[in-house]
Amino acid sequence: SVFGYRDFTQQQKWDTTFLAVPDPKLAGQHLKTLTAEPHWASSPEDLKTAQYVAAKFKEAGLQTEIVPYRVLLNKPKKISIEAFDSKGKKLMSGPTKEHVDGDPFQDDPRVLPAFNGSSPSGDVTGEVIYCNYGTLADFRKIKELGIDMHGKIALVRYGQNFRGVKVYIAQQMGAAGVLIYSDPADDGWVKGDKYPQGAFRPDNAVQRGSVQFIAKYTGDPETPGVASTEKLPDSARLPENKLQDDQPSIPANPISYQDAQPILHALGGPESPRPWQGALPFTYHLGGKGVTAHMHLEQDYAVRTIWNVIGKIPGTDAPDEWVIAGNHRDAWVYGAVDPNSGTAAMLETVHGLGELLKQGWKPKRTVIIGSWDAEEEGLVGSTEWAEEHAAELQHAVAYFNTDVGVSGPDFGASSVPSLQQFVREVTKSVPSPKGGTVYDQWKKSQEEGRGRGTSTSASNVVTSVDNDVKVDALGSGSDYTPFIQHIGVPATDIGSSGRYGVYHSVFDNYAWFVKNADPTFVYEQQQARVFGLEILHMANADVLPYDYQAYGKAVEEYISTAKKKASTDGLTLNFDAAAAAAKRFETAGSAIRTRQNSFSGNLKALNDNLRAVEGAFISSQGLPNRPWYKHVIYAPGEYTGYAAVVIPGVNEAMEGGINNKPDMGIAQAQLGVLTEALNQAALILEGAAH
Ligand code: GLU
Ligand code: ZN
Ligand code: ZN
Repeated sequence: SVFGYRDFTQQQKWDTTFLAVPDPKLAGQHLKTLTAEPHWASSPEDLKTAQYVAAKFKEAGLQTEIVPYRVLLNKPKKISIEAFDSKGKKLMSGPTKEHVDGDPFQDDPRVLPAFNGSSPSGDVTGEVIYCNYGTLADFRKIKELGIDMHGKIALVRYGQNFRGVKVYIAQQMGAAGVLIYSDPADDGWVKGDKYPQGAFRPDNAVQRGSVQFIAKYTGDPETPGVASTEKLPDSARLPENKLQDDQPSIPANPISYQDAQPILHALGGPESPRPWQGALPFTYHLGGKGVTAHMHLEQDYAVRTIWNVIGKIPGTDAPDEWVIAGNHRDAWVYGAVDPNSGTAAMLETVHGLGELLKQGWKPKRTVIIGSWDAEEEGLVGSTEWAEEHAAELQHAVAYFNTDVGVSGPDFGASSVPSLQQFVREVTKSVPSPKGGTVYDQWKKSQEEGRGRGTSTSASNVVTSVDNDVKVDALGSGSDYTPFIQHIGVPATDIGSSGRYGVYHSVFDNYAWFVKNADPTFVYEQQQARVFGLEILHMANADVLPYDYQAYGKAVEEYISTAKKKASTDGLTLNFDAAAAAAKRFETAGSAIRTRQNSFSGNLKALNDNLRAVEGAFISSQGLPNRPWYKHVIYAPGEYTGYAAVVIPGVNEAMEGGINNKPDMGIAQAQLGVLTEALNQAALILEGAAH
């Protein structure tokens, strides 16, 4: 039997009917249509994609609405970057336009120049310092080496953390501006042939992207915690001076390695530490010998309209228990992989749901499908929608995300621990194009060192502490964040990955996709099926299939890891109460599994209690210095962005931030908050166990 189902026979029949529907050819057609034009959020072409998606939702029989919000977004008016050597001789002037031989999409006049979302306008000149990936450790090293970043331009490379974190730290170090480039060591020719010969980043391809301070809050920068509906009066928006600490105040812009190379080559000063050496053919130096960069950015900031598409199938038995599945639709340019490989698959999932509806299927719980806008600028569409529906979301039972649905063949997942086993079970019901099930191939790819997580920057934090396939912890960088970390809706994120070096460049287009990612769209089909079974199995389970024993084990592990770190670092903290509460939660989780498997008593009351547990992890005051983030077990790291930090209140106080000063008062207080949440979660389960 399958966890959550008293009798799986009927569900299995629906599964079989559903699995037959998602069609590779149709997925390919959706992808081609969605990526025909650049469709940056708020553009007329973005609205066209919303209308296409809405039409497909309607065709399948979903109650469909295009939901607009008005949000602050910047669009580049003028981007100019120049660099000079110590004698004032010009080293480069750019940015160079992205171009390779034979790409059919690159010359469209609607392609925006490469820029960073949330960068302010600015006209700054400063000495260039190479700061590696711009991690906290890198900037600490710069300080240790005696380099003062005040007034300097930080030249950093993409990778290891979220780009907004690079700017967050550089700004706090006093830098005047940030240039972020893609080193060939990270997603260029070191990894494989460049596009169009291969899948990797050409010399002049640039990674666009938001530099919002993701660790503070997501969504419209002017409305944290509040939905930017069309009715919201302008007086309810934060004025610019209130945004100061939570938004970048120094200009930032991405460049290619072709443009970075002459700057790096000229830098001089001390050799960079060995691990900072990238793949360009000379020794990297830190700078400090008079090489300057001039950044002149003019951003057109305006409150612009964006469009989510929401499709609904009302539930018969428990209409308040929403099962939500979503993917963003907006792209920096064409977005064939990011995000429309996910959208094309999602439309085939919806196609399958439509077929079931025609045959008389009805979900017990309400199914909601969201096509989010302006994810790229900072999870804007999903955040505004979640903020608008915060009250109803208190009893939503799951949010299933997919962003990059397919960039290659290796399936991966991130989730809350309570749903890790659920995701594994779903993948056991879906065949893989390589033979066996998706689960079999997932396992195999992990044995070969691939198939981990869904984040842009691999995290080493997992959700699963058992000996099964690894499911990663949810950090951030995609639309699950407002659901799990702001509101407490149990979430998962799925996708399959491969050789993908054109992220956020003009070359992430249909031509690249059919050459490199999934030429016959069979992984699109797989993605549509896995996503669909997540929805079906959650919508009609008799008992909500959360595994709280696994959650308890994961939290116990996080606490013991933090305790070890405290002792290594010589920090005096008492973990006893938190460890005891985690143990109590795990024990209650094990007892409730017996009740879940017995299907006895009032199942509605049991389900209410099961759902309430994740809510116990939401603290009303939120995390220290970032009250919008309310989940006490998972948050995007303040200094990692993409990668999760677990029990964040505790671990970040121990880490000590930019000044390297652990705060034991905060850490102990946060252990108290954690203990209380775990005891509350245990209490809910104990009350429901019999
Ligand atoms: N997924 C996008 C990125 O990684 C947006 C993340 C965000 O701004 O929160 O750039
Ligand atoms: Zn995306
Ligand atoms: Zn993206």
